[in-house]
Amino acid sequence: MILAFVEHESGLPDEVSLEALSLARSLATAEGTELAAAVFGDEGAALADELGAYGVEEVHHVTHDDLEGYAPEAWGESVAQLADDLEAGTVVVPGTDRGHEVAAHAGATLDAPMAANCVAVDVGDDGAYELERHRWGGSLLEHARLEGERKLVSAAKHEFPVEAADEETDPTVVTFSPSLEAEHLRVRVDRVESGDEEGIPLGEARVVVGGGRGVGGPDDYDQLEELADLLGGTVGASRAAINEGWRPHDDQVGQTGAKISPDIYIACGISGAVQHMVGCKGSETILAINTDPEAAIIQKADWAVVGDLHEVVPELNDAIRERT
Ligand SMILES: Cc1cc2nc3c(=O)[nH]c(=O)nc-3n(C[C@H](O)[C@H](O)[C@H](O)COP(=O)(O)OP(=O)(O)OC[C@H]3O[C@@H](n4cnc5c(N)ncnc54)[C@H](O)[C@@H]3O)c2cc1C
Repeated sequence: MILAFVEHESGLPDEVSLEALSLARSLATAEGTELAAAVFGDEGAALADELGAYGVEEVHHVTHDDLEGYAPEAWGESVAQLADDLEAGTVVVPGTDRGHEVAAHAGATLDAPMAANCVAVDVGDDGAYELERHRWGGSLLEHARLEGERKLVSAAKHEFPVEAADEETDPTVVTFSPSLEAEHLRVRVDRVESGDEEGIPLGEARVVVGGGRGVGGPDDYDQLEELADLLGGTVGASRAAINEGWRPHDDQVGQTGAKISPDIYIACGISGAVQHMVGCKGSETILAINTDPEAAIIQKADWAVVGDLHEVVPELNDAIRERT
């Protein structure tokens, strides 16, 4: 049995979970075993209809009186207990923060090895996995072998296509009630606040105007906001700018921030550190605006303007306004 942990929003599976499910199904097929899913939350059982399209045979809806919201240790413990009950050989999770947290706790409980951010997984003759996975935010690719009677893998975001199964299934919904102690609930979400929902999410924007330490302060982002508005895009930032408190954390592009893939990324006052570049390397075109001709980003960009962004960006805004 392969057990896939599926995240969802109001009963609809999220994209990365469906990608992970496609990986899980390919492993189930290669190993000649069945595919089951673990889901949490009130609307979890409603997922069954959706998951049949991906070849899931059983949907295990995890419920417990104390499991109202997300609780990483409790969810990890529940997945571990379920994997034990089902004698699942492999647990597959989406390569999201939550997927990784749940798998890390489950792996620790099961004393089983975990490989995070896999981009390819092959089942060897001896049952071990030969895999490739992203390290350092995707800046290098590691070949690894994962051995163990039970293994955990996460599917790196947007690396596996979402593929429906050749034959749709009609999954059985089974309620699973884990046995949890107070210690499993030490960390839990008790309140959810929605962020600034205005504008286009970074990950979906076709134009991103990024601002780094070179912007110089929070007010100077107005010029970047204007440029983004004129081009129908959104503003991102480097970690240095976030750390300065100039921009909200949601704006961060990079290894520990958002991965963007716009048609054009206009990087203003950003040096081009590797941790920043792994977040924007999916951009079709990079235009760098920087005073330093030796800045790393100038070498990595498709186009560069060597100059002061406080002069270049307003000029750019004026030029675009004249044309529109
Ligand atoms: C584990 C780890 C994870 C990290 N994750 C991330 C991440 O997710 N995202 C991220 O961004 N960083 C990340 N970092 C930090 C990263 O290493 C860099 O420190 C950071 O990206 C630098 O930000 P910056 O380019 O804005 O600042 P700086 O490196 O200080 O560069 C500022 C640039 O602005 C230019 N400049 C100055 N004034 C002007 C002007 N008037 N006009 C035009 N150009 C000007 C300068 O020439 C310089 O190139 C991480 C680091 C670590 C260790």
